[in-house]
Amino acid sequence: MSRLVVVSNRVADPRKPGAGGLAVALGDALHTSGGLWFGWSGRTAEASAAQAVQVQRAGDVTLATIDLSAADHRAYYLGYSNSVLWPVFHYRINLADHEAGDIEGYRRVNRLMAQELRPLLRADDLVWVHDYHLIPLAAELRALGCAQRIGFFLHIPLPPHTLLAAIPQHAWLMRSLMAYDLVGFQSRTDREHFADYLLREAGGQALGDDRLLAWGRTVRARAVPIGIDVDEFQALGRGADARETLQSMRETYAARRLLIGVDRLDYSKGLPQRIRAFRRLLEAYPENRRRATLIQVAAPSREDVGAYADIRRELEGLCGAINGDFGELDWMPVRFIHRTVARKRLPGLYRAGAVGLVTPLRDGMNLVAKEYVASQDPADPGVLVLSRFAGAAEQLTDALLVNPYDIAGTADAIQQALQMPLQERVMRHAALMRNLRTHDVHWWAREFLHALMDRAS
Ligand code: UDP
Repeated sequence: MSRLVVVSNRVADPRKPGAGGLAVALGDALHTSGGLWFGWSGRTAEASAAQAVQVQRAGDVTLATIDLSAADHRAYYLGYSNSVLWPVFHYRINLADHEAGDIEGYRRVNRLMAQELRPLLRADDLVWVHDYHLIPLAAELRALGCAQRIGFFLHIPLPPHTLLAAIPQHAWLMRSLMAYDLVGFQSRTDREHFADYLLREAGGQALGDDRLLAWGRTVRARAVPIGIDVDEFQALGRGADARETLQSMRETYAARRLLIGVDRLDYSKGLPQRIRAFRRLLEAYPENRRRATLIQVAAPSREDVGAYADIRRELEGLCGAINGDFGELDWMPVRFIHRTVARKRLPGLYRAGAVGLVTPLRDGMNLVAKEYVASQDPADPGVLVLSRFAGAAEQLTDALLVNPYDIAGTADAIQQALQMPLQERVMRHAALMRNLRTHDVHWWAREFLHALMDRAS
């Protein structure tokens, strides 16, 4: 069996509590093959000291990391990855900061990663590269003579070619993907956008069986949606922290129906639209006044990227106005919490919610949607209100799907969720759980790796 080598921007010790479902799944796959996980350490160092690989054992998995210089980190991570690729790949071409987006820094760090990784590779390794930070990594490895099977998974959406073209280096980026043997996407839509790009912008051709030809090279492209580790998450829900959280929510909000939102504070998550939809709910359906409370967790994220400060101010203004206009001495309509909630508490918070609000304007998958469903009591579950623009919407069709730009329509869906009879809630939840279980994170890793290993294709 080939050894698996995972490469991602950040490396996590899969044995650490709170590592998350992705780390657990990749840890599993790495453990089976005695594998290697390579990436950035999360630390910045003096330029001269930045390049030594640090190796650490985590059971039978090897973690190998490099530090980056502060300038490289700024250019590659804050700049090109998060100020150009992130907004444009989420369809927000107007938010891209091309001044901050230093393509040279992005190339330099990808080249550095390839140079540091190459001596660690064995001839029959299977290499799995993750996400938008590392699109050109395979091309850099190939330039150094690496002939291993290399796969790439894009965790974020891929926009239509007309939007992608807003990135000055779009052709270089897409051409870089052709250096992989297999490229995986979260949804059929993303995969279609890739095929469409190659056809329209690069004179490419679909060859059938997932194969696409462009620039004289063939690549396989598949939609392999990521899932959660359902068992791990449900076990977390039985833990003391989650139970304590649920208990305290039930006591504090005994007289209320709770709407729960849990997101990173990111402009892709549709938070202002969600707060407006809640306001609309209180206006259009006044029976919810004094009754419904929205708890919105917005975990701080990328605060050193300009576009993120504006959204915080906007949200605080919107929430303050609702609390001022509708609040009573004994009822605060919205609790806006600008803090990260520990993963071990989340199942309790989700379970306290009669409605789970997951309404991004665009999202690769959205794991919170799946975690909310997995946390419910099957005999009396809450209702998931889900944006049709989340990758998860292709799978979770038994949620109430909404267009988050349609404030009145979203408010109507929340009202429908609040009023949904028990039998319908149970049926929808059971259907959602079937999907979560069939397509869990272990299925995702297996499916991708089988496809990558499949030499016949
Ligand atoms: N999360 C968390 N605490 C928070 C907010 C989020 O642990 O306060 C976790 C959440 O459980 C989920 C992940 O962060 O697993 C967010 O993943 P998702 O796919 O929903 O969105 P992303 O942040 O990757 O865009």
